[in-house]
Amino acid sequence: MVNRAKEVLTSLLRSTFRPKENVSPSAWVEREIRLDAKTSNKPGRYSLRHTPYLRQIYDDVANPRIRKIVVKKGAQLGLTQFANNVVLYYVCNFTFPALMIMPSKEAAQQFCERSLTPAIYACDALRPYLTGNEDDLKKTEYLFTSCIVRIIGAGSPSKLASNPACLCIIDEADKMEDFGSQGEAPALELAEDRTISFPTDKKIIVLSTPTSETTSVIQSQYLLGSQSKYFCKCPRCEREQVLKFENVKWPNFKLEDGSYDLDRLEREAYYQCNNAECQARLTEVDKIEMVRGGEWRNTNPKSFPAEIRSYQISALYSFNITWGGLAKLFILSKDDVGKLRNFYNSYLGECFEQRAATIRKDDLDALIKDSPYYLKGELLSKPDVVLMAADTQGGNFWFGVEAVYPDGTSSLVDWGEAATFEDLEQVSRRQYKVRGAEEYHGIYKSLIDLGGNRTSQVYDFCIRTAFRFIPVAGRQERQGLYAPVRETTVAYKNYNLPALLINDKLFKDTLYLSCIKERSGKLLLAADCDDELKIQLSSERLAERKNSRGIISAEWICTNRRNHLGDVLKYLEAFKFRLEPELKVRRQAIAANEVNAVKELPKRQYALATEVRQYRADDWG
Ligand SMILES: [Zn+2]
Repeated sequence: MVNRAKEVLTSLLRSTFRPKENVSPSAWVEREIRLDAKTSNKPGRYSLRHTPYLRQIYDDVANPRIRKIVVKKGAQLGLTQFANNVVLYYVCNFTFPALMIMPSKEAAQQFCERSLTPAIYACDALRPYLTGNEDDLKKTEYLFTSCIVRIIGAGSPSKLASNPACLCIIDEADKMEDFGSQGEAPALELAEDRTISFPTDKKIIVLSTPTSETTSVIQSQYLLGSQSKYFCKCPRCEREQVLKFENVKWPNFKLEDGSYDLDRLEREAYYQCNNAECQARLTEVDKIEMVRGGEWRNTNPKSFPAEIRSYQISALYSFNITWGGLAKLFILSKDDVGKLRNFYNSYLGECFEQRAATIRKDDLDALIKDSPYYLKGELLSKPDVVLMAADTQGGNFWFGVEAVYPDGTSSLVDWGEAATFEDLEQVSRRQYKVRGAEEYHGIYKSLIDLGGNRTSQVYDFCIRTAFRFIPVAGRQERQGLYAPVRETTVAYKNYNLPALLINDKLFKDTLYLSCIKERSGKLLLAADCDDELKIQLSSERLAERKNSRGIISAEWICTNRRNHLGDVLKYLEAFKFRLEPELKVRRQAIAANEVNAVKELPKRQYALATEVRQYRADDWG
């Protein structure tokens, strides 16, 4: 407490956020940063001529009125170099600690090795701040005479929680799944906590390609801010415009077999000015002139731009990829929803939301055909874990059992109907044989739906089975669940029951769009799937819905009231998602041949099991 109070006091007593040198960050980086031939395709003095849109974003770093800078970005725009340069500028101009968070430990190490460390040695301005002791430049932690800089990977929240920082850069905020799956506190919140001791000087920089509208961190941050877009002038008509992919045009170069002549398409694609009276065909040469002459405009007048400056920029502005190159990438992606989503997210820097889909029996037949051959009741090989889920109806239950394998795939092993709680418990004790081997595996745990008016019966059942069954309920975002899954406890009789809340829409998307429609290869089905299963898995449809304020969203609608096995598989998707971090640890332990650790793991490592062990020992039966 004393230290903390001292920290706060010190930061308040210090002068406000003012750089040592009276020179703008953009001018500073162009003067001081050298790129070497090993790490850059443009070696020599760093120049904003290649990335003119970054100038204002650099200068925001020294603007004391801006607390947070958010960049929702496409690929090839130089933002990683930007993060690197901001760190160097900061070391030379400020004295507070800095923190950078990358999506993984590996990404953090790679960034330090390939980018930051070489840049530190190449920068003359930074030399006076080196301590002279090489040990002070550790792999991912750098001690300078002015300040300390730490680069960490997501997935180490405890480490994160211990380091205060005045400058905090979060790279690829949308890829930090490790934080999200632990419950409510996403990476950004943890990072914001780090800067709390520097209320007047803090600077948070969030960079990321977006993911889906509903779960994207960068999208929600972007919407809070100024929503600045980069406007360029058409060199013919001078109309100012934001570059949009629909204005990239290409002649129809279809070959006889229906495929495209991609090389020709790439060469001859062009950008069409969006002024209907001009429609000039603009080239890559025009692009350089347009982007160099462009400027950022705030498109969200209701925001508080002094607090949050948010930017969106797509690869259409990049000098490293041509408009034709993007057109080619689009053609290669357009027939595959997964690839198309990646094109939208990673190149256009936009969210991609599928708004309509119908699951048909054909989709399931195609998925069965794609799966390796196995029959109901068989495991394909030794699984990481076997999981079960049950859907509670007024007079019966539907259940499903899935095996999760080390390669990240899972197969539906067993499914059906159970009449009573006792029958359901019998099912949970079944053993499944590995195909072609004398090896059997049982079920680790089961989720059970809280089922409308049978909630207290379900709770009693969970207690009676010593939590071999864990209650689960689906939630919507409008009910306040923003995390994919949240572990919670329910006070019932003398117990605090563990329970899982899951994001309904998200896991229906995963099941129906990704696993079934796009056949991502993650879910496998048995060759002898029966018609009942196929009917129940094809009874939902994704459709657009407009709310009272005219905002369109997509929702899953059940078409025939027979979607119970669909719900079961949805719960299994959520269960797998929740256990993935622990399964990953276990796989790594197996890979490292820690045999003893592996034996112990199922009870010791799964958080849900740990939580259950906190209940009274005599409840274990
Ligand atoms: Zn024009």
